[in-house]
Amino acid sequence: MKYFILFGPPGAGKGTQAAKMKEKYSLRHISTGDLLRKEIAEETELGKMAKSLTDNGNLVPDEIVIGMIRNVLDSDRTAKGFLLDGFPRTEAQAVALDRMLKERGSEVTSVLSLMIDDDEVVRRIKKRAEIENRADDADEATIRNRVRTYHEKTEPVINHYKSTGKYNEVNGTGSIEEVFGTLCGIIDRL
Ligand code: AMP
Repeated sequence: MKYFILFGPPGAGKGTQAAKMKEKYSLRHISTGDLLRKEIAEETELGKMAKSLTDNGNLVPDEIVIGMIRNVLDSDRTAKGFLLDGFPRTEAQAVALDRMLKERGSEVTSVLSLMIDDDEVVRRIKKRAEIENRADDADEATIRNRVRTYHEKTEPVINHYKSTGKYNEVNGTGSIEEVFGTLCGIIDRL
């Protein structure tokens, strides 16, 4: 069983690349952001709790997202592999993921990290706001808070994986096809 992590700041293109990778490699795509948006749309208890946090660009508590990931891993034992998008976002989530995979006799296969700078993040998310209708894409203060949260809480996760030799950085500023080509190159060499 293969477990890929698609890593990077908001707006780096994780969702776009995940859709292509899922197709090409028959992976089960798990986006914690998508799962949370579904809970919010369905107005579940979890969704009500998550709404104000996600709307303001803050992270949802670790236990919640870790539980969501555990549920998907448990519910799909037939997948060829999993593609985690937007998880782990904190050191605690990375540690929990290691533990969950170890329980399943497995480990993270590869971390694919899309790199773009902060100004490009803001530019891309503003563009996305014109197409999708995400509350957290709507104003610049929220976008800047997400960038800050990324640097403070999520970027340190890179160090968690760097020492494992499974961490790969990919320039995220090329065209969709260029970035996809680089990602495929890494996966195909595994
Ligand atoms: P995304 O679609 O990945 O940009 O996620 C949208 C929002 O959902 C984030 O800004 C967070 O508020 C929340 N979220 C998604 N994934 C996580 C996670 N792994 N840990 C905590 N919060 C998350």
